[in-house]
Amino acid sequence: MIAVESLYKQFGDLEVLKGIDLNVEQGKVVVVIGPSGSGKTTLLRCLNILETPTAGKVSIDNQTLDFSSKVPSSKIASFRRLTGMVFQSYNLFPHMTALQNVMEGPITVKKEQKAKVEEKARRLLVKVGLGDKADFYPFQLSGGQQQRVGIARALAMEPKVMLFDEATSALDPELVGEVLRVMKELAQEGMTMVVVTHEMQFAREVADEVIFMDKGVIVEKGKPEEIFESPKAERTKQFLRMIS
Ligand code: ADP
Repeated sequence: MIAVESLYKQFGDLEVLKGIDLNVEQGKVVVVIGPSGSGKTTLLRCLNILETPTAGKVSIDNQTLDFSSKVPSSKIASFRRLTGMVFQSYNLFPHMTALQNVMEGPITVKKEQKAKVEEKARRLLVKVGLGDKADFYPFQLSGGQQQRVGIARALAMEPKVMLFDEATSALDPELVGEVLRVMKELAQEGMTMVVVTHEMQFAREVADEVIFMDKGVIVEKGKPEEIFESPKAERTKQFLRMIS
């Protein structure tokens, strides 16, 4: 479902991604871990071209963008629709209810029919446990509830892949579980997911593969038990010692 080949990203002189190769099969969950500044967020943002890679290829669902030459913006727009992204900050529209937030994308971007979109949005709000909060505004919702609206909003666009960028990092500790639960359910339903997180328990339970990044490269990858119980690289061992 996802294939990344020799991906490079530079910000000015700073080389942030130094040749990333990554494959994710349909229905699999890859969790990306690593120290702050190692390039995890940049990698996710390159998957939906919120950042333009300096070089390399990104394929999702058999659509390929090759950054060895200039990629037209029309191609990028349709490519971006293959992925749904959930950010650390929820970025909901403050003047819209939960329901309106979820309906916005399908109506304005995909020009779907309003009645159908409303039905879909209500179903998605039920799915994330917010069936009774459809008419609430973001300020009336907790951080965890807002983030679950954010997940419903991304799902409403019917992406092939979901990308989570530290989706629980801004939440009070008691609200983290409800968001992770929704993410876990999505994984169990067969959604292809790439998840950047500090939640190691989630990685252990839900990941098919864990990727450890440091300084713009993938240092090591493997099944969760391989990475957490018997890491091979010294840098992985060091990182895991630091966070435990
Ligand atoms: P991580 O998610 O692992 O913490 P990031 O991908 O956010 O790492 O950042 C990797 C490096 O790239 C950091 O040194 C960061 O300062 C730098 N960086 C990220 N985004 C930008 C940007 N838009 N402009 C310049 N430098 C950036």
